[in-house]
Amino acid sequence: MDFSILTIFPDIFNSFLSHGIIRRAIESNIISVNPMDIRDFASGKHRITDDRPYGGGAGMVMKPEPLAGAISEAKSKTPGARIILLSPQGRPFKQSVASELSMLDGLIFICGRYEGVDERIYELIDEEISIGDYVLTGGEPAALIIIDAVTRLLPGALGGEDSAEKESFTDYLLEHAHYTRPPVFEGEAVPDILLSGNHGAIADWRLESSLIRTLLKRPDLLDSKNLGNREKEVLQRWCEYIEQLITS
Ligand code: SAM
Repeated sequence: MDFSILTIFPDIFNSFLSHGIIRRAIESNIISVNPMDIRDFASGKHRITDDRPYGGGAGMVMKPEPLAGAISEAKSKTPGARIILLSPQGRPFKQSVASELSMLDGLIFICGRYEGVDERIYELIDEEISIGDYVLTGGEPAALIIIDAVTRLLPGALGGEDSAEKESFTDYLLEHAHYTRPPVFEGEAVPDILLSGNHGAIADWRLESSLIRTLLKRPDLLDSKNLGNREKEVLQRWCEYIEQLITS
């Protein structure tokens, strides 16, 4: 998958792209990441990419011409790519959106700065995405977050050591608890069942851990989940237990 990032700070991405799973995905040609300097598409000696807002008021606005030039160049390299404006006003980014985006040939991210981009840029984009209900100074962290979440869903990106299949938000559940060595840490022992070698019992323990965590931390996720009999049974037992605690 090809990612193009339209930004006035292309160097921000160097460190992120040279570590861990993202670096390996680039080296294995699973992804390519191309930060593009919007200033390269600005005219004049000073290559200005922003200007004062019409109508007055605080802040600066990103000019449309350099952005349009950068979009056109990125689109010519990956014609099938979706053009995404990063914005706090966009569609909320979730695991399901990451999964949808991972099916595409490429993504072109427009990283805004200042007050955002000139309104006429909306004619050139496919959609607007937000990474959460808060305001960042620029779209660059949002581009990194989306690239990271999408890349780990691409075939081969995680290698053999990890799996995206059972992670949180897959099938509306949070992932189960994890333990590693030592077997006892500050008096707290690893649950016996995880040391038992009984794979059926371990799978059942993990399902229960996953359901309880979701119930306690993100009960809203369960609204969308189709519960199987075993899952209903576990939740019922925990709800009864919680009720007993409240009423005793
Ligand atoms: N004036 C804009 C508003 O109130 O909607 C906020 C502009 S913000 C300071 C500058 C840029 O940061 C935006 O153009 C966008 O690219 C990026 N940005 C800020 N918050 C974001 C979010 N939650 N998700 C994605 N991008 C965001």
